[in-house]
Amino acid sequence: MAPGGSACKEDESYPAVADYAIATAKPESNYMTTKSSFGFVGKHGIQSNNGVYELLECPVCKNLMYPPIHQCPNGHTLCLNCKNRVQNCCPSCRYDLGNIRCLALEKFAESLELTCKYHSLGCHEILPYYSKLKHEQHCRFRPYNCPYAGSDCSITGDIPTLIAHLKDDHKVDMHNGCTFNHRYVKSNPHKVEHATWMLTTVEVTVSVFKCFGKQFCLHFEAFQIGMVPVYMAFLRFMGDDSEAKKFSYCLEVGANGRKLTWQGIPRSIRDSHRKVRDSQDGLVIQRNLALYFSGGDRQELKLRVSGRIWKEA
Ligand SMILES: [Zn+2]
Ligand SMILES: [Zn+2]
Ligand SMILES: [Zn+2]
Ligand SMILES: [Zn+2]
Repeated sequence: MAPGGSACKEDESYPAVADYAIATAKPESNYMTTKSSFGFVGKHGIQSNNGVYELLECPVCKNLMYPPIHQCPNGHTLCLNCKNRVQNCCPSCRYDLGNIRCLALEKFAESLELTCKYHSLGCHEILPYYSKLKHEQHCRFRPYNCPYAGSDCSITGDIPTLIAHLKDDHKVDMHNGCTFNHRYVKSNPHKVEHATWMLTTVEVTVSVFKCFGKQFCLHFEAFQIGMVPVYMAFLRFMGDDSEAKKFSYCLEVGANGRKLTWQGIPRSIRDSHRKVRDSQDGLVIQRNLALYFSGGDRQELKLRVSGRIWKEA
């Protein structure tokens, strides 16, 4: 028996570390340097001549470890996440884990400096080990989520990647120019009242406009605010919020001498489509008015939404 530990009960469903299949993390392209000077850039870019990266890599999930780092009585380390998953049994030696922190490793990690994981996308920040995660959550080089609404699309990437993806996979219309004049036609506008439709589907249209060398997504969709069926049109900017603020846009819909206008600032696609919709930051048209604007016998929705994008001086 190993010192200080008692063996866990053998359990077939619980393989040892080699074939432990928790590994969910993508390999990170970290570059790590230390204040003390290590020799060369090793696996995953860590500067090390003695396996620094391996020391900080959780042997179970292969992610970098952050405090509290735990160890078994035999010295095998693992991250808190994995500790909570392995039912107190060390995945390396199968002895009881207990509740032992590995303070030396935590201290050591503190002395490290790393590059952002979006280094290859253009971020040149050098970060203390423990600031890295927080920085990466907000790094302006981090990939964007697919801005297409109404589907659970998991594609991420930079703007050119997403443009190609919207065009190829979502068959989104692409337009050039800063003005637009779009017609939305829907044959059964009363469907929005149908209970299951309401809960499961959001009817959406997305078009992309290119102007000022940037891309904007024009969204049009039907949903309900409370019990009131509405249509909403709004614009999102394919880029960060700081840049989105440099633009303004207006939208207009109407007929028979009446019109409804909206002037706003496009929202960054960093804000989810749902968040923008739920904040009603756009042209909201109640269905009754939309049907009035459609003319005819109110059985068909025919809205012409026109608008313009401009850059604030
Ligand atoms: Zn882990
Ligand atoms: Zn162990
Ligand atoms: Zn960064
Ligand atoms: Zn997508």
